[in-house]
Amino acid sequence: MKTRGKTLMERYEMEKLLGKGTFGKVHYARDLESSQGVAIKIMDKDRVLKVRLSEQVKREITTMRLVEHKNIVCLHEVMATWNKIYIIMEYAKGGELWDKVKRSGRLTEADAHRYFQQLISALDHCHSRGVYHRDLKPENLLLDENGDLKVSDFGLSAFSESRRTDGLLHTVCGTSMYIAPEVIRKTGYDGAKSDIWSCGVVLFILAAGYLPFQGPNLMEIYRKIHDSDFKCPNWFSHKLKRLLYKILNPNPSMRPSIQEIKESTWFRKGPREISAVNKKVLSENATTTNAARVLPSRRKEIAHEDMKSLVATNLNAFEIIALSAGLDLSGLFIKECRKETRFTSDKPVLAIIAKLEDAAKALNLRIRKTDNNTVSIQGRKEGRNGVLQFDTQIFEITPSCHLVQMKQTSGDLLEYEKLLEEGIRPRLKDVVWAWHGDDLQQKQE
Ligand code: AMP
Repeated sequence: MKTRGKTLMERYEMEKLLGKGTFGKVHYARDLESSQGVAIKIMDKDRVLKVRLSEQVKREITTMRLVEHKNIVCLHEVMATWNKIYIIMEYAKGGELWDKVKRSGRLTEADAHRYFQQLISALDHCHSRGVYHRDLKPENLLLDENGDLKVSDFGLSAFSESRRTDGLLHTVCGTSMYIAPEVIRKTGYDGAKSDIWSCGVVLFILAAGYLPFQGPNLMEIYRKIHDSDFKCPNWFSHKLKRLLYKILNPNPSMRPSIQEIKESTWFRKGPREISAVNKKVLSENATTTNAARVLPSRRKEIAHEDMKSLVATNLNAFEIIALSAGLDLSGLFIKECRKETRFTSDKPVLAIIAKLEDAAKALNLRIRKTDNNTVSIQGRKEGRNGVLQFDTQIFEITPSCHLVQMKQTSGDLLEYEKLLEEGIRPRLKDVVWAWHGDDLQQKQE
């Protein structure tokens, strides 16, 4: 069926095809409200369910929401119909970095250095939040309109896993070139160290224009990966060679950490060819990029950043958020939309509940506490679509940080949105640290 020209849930107008991945097509689309361009990955729900990935997909997508970095493709939202899952992402206008490498044969060491720094910065951010890519390869490295790196598929690593376990999809060959020896050995591995290995392979390809491990068949390639049998071309600087031999160490415990990579001379200083003038331009660009990020409109997101570093101190928080986001994609039919809103709070549970009680009283709503730290709030009259009701659940992330999730359970969506905006949100402001994105959830039969 033709996708181009179609409107997705009256929100996005689908335009040209950007590319095809293992799980489906990616289209350019326009947000009808903001006119902003987005990329939409369309996945076949049956295919995801067939490889029993729905739980992982839910968790990974939710985790992806926590990962916000200037060099990572931002996930805007996820939608689902009876047979498709739509992942709405930031559009990377510059296309694939790999195409750039192919066009010029290889990158200069200075360019490879710049992209490697951006890649390590993105990776560092994700690893600090317990998120590992596990499928880093040039095809997942996109560029924005300024030519800066945007790593895609972060958090969607579940798919690459499926490629390995699903006997039907043998596209793994392309990916194999980048996977770490310990992943091939299947002896259990440290996600951070195997991502670092893949970064080393990516760095090699960028500066060499070809793969470090090649062979006539997969067995031979695996053998070379296993023994880290590769040779740097003679145009690599001595410092780059030294760093690569360290990163591509087959023993993960001997491989440098991100911090050690950041401290290496090549990483800090780059190749010698970068002239003082170029360095100045690069650092000025970096300053403007950073300055542009601290505009007033971004202030709220910066507060989120602070909160996220707190969340990251406890890995269980990812689990909590993943489970609480209620991103149930496994249903078959959409009946109507329900709204889910989340906020974080640095106040104790009792203070949050007290504020909810005050708000309910002021708005003449019924309130009752059910189990699992859930507070149910209900209207007193029939609305346009039955009695309005929403549940509020409080999760402890750390003793001083709570995630509060409000989920509409019945009634009319517009009436609920009005109540939320005009009645509830202003009354909760004293206990809210930061509001998070609102999601429209499809109610399933
Ligand atoms: P994937 O399924 O993620 O491998 O995507 C398939 C192809 O679609 C990629 O190789 C890119 O060319 C393109 N693509 C994916 N995500 C984006 C994006 N956010 N912006 C622009 N192009 C994208």
